[in-house]
Amino acid sequence: MADVNTSVGPAEALLKKSGLKRTPVRIGVLQVLTNQQEPMDVGDILKLLPSFTEPVTVYRTLNTFVEKKIIHRVRGEDRSWRYAAGDFSEASEHQHAHFVCDTCGKVECISDAKIPMKLLEKIQPAPGYRIDHPEVLLHGACPKCQ
Ligand SMILES: [Zn+2]
Ligand SMILES: [Zn+2]
Repeated sequence: MADVNTSVGPAEALLKKSGLKRTPVRIGVLQVLTNQQEPMDVGDILKLLPSFTEPVTVYRTLNTFVEKKIIHRVRGEDRSWRYAAGDFSEASEHQHAHFVCDTCGKVECISDAKIPMKLLEKIQPAPGYRIDHPEVLLHGACPKCQ
């Protein structure tokens, strides 16, 4: 049986993999994020969902996805979270640097800029701290702002 909407496939597969129930909001949010290359804030995500979608449900859904490590998030210059599809859980090769344009505030996933896991060994956090994952934020000007 073929999917009518091909983008439903990956969203539903991700939900299944993480053991989450399929709900219209969860599927909708995942579809939005998997169709988009750049990290999006909640406002951007809401604009692409049906107008009756409750913002509080979307916030809760995003938190669940981050906890389940289906998506990752990064903060921009305005301190608001941006969310992007991508599993940051086990495979270290999925971890990448993010870029913030200091002129227009755009935040991007730099998927080619993998974070070397050796970085943590080199930084050597003090004993007693548990590091879950490193975050590398590159600042500068995006191609449009130069
Ligand atoms: Zn820019
Ligand atoms: Zn990213």
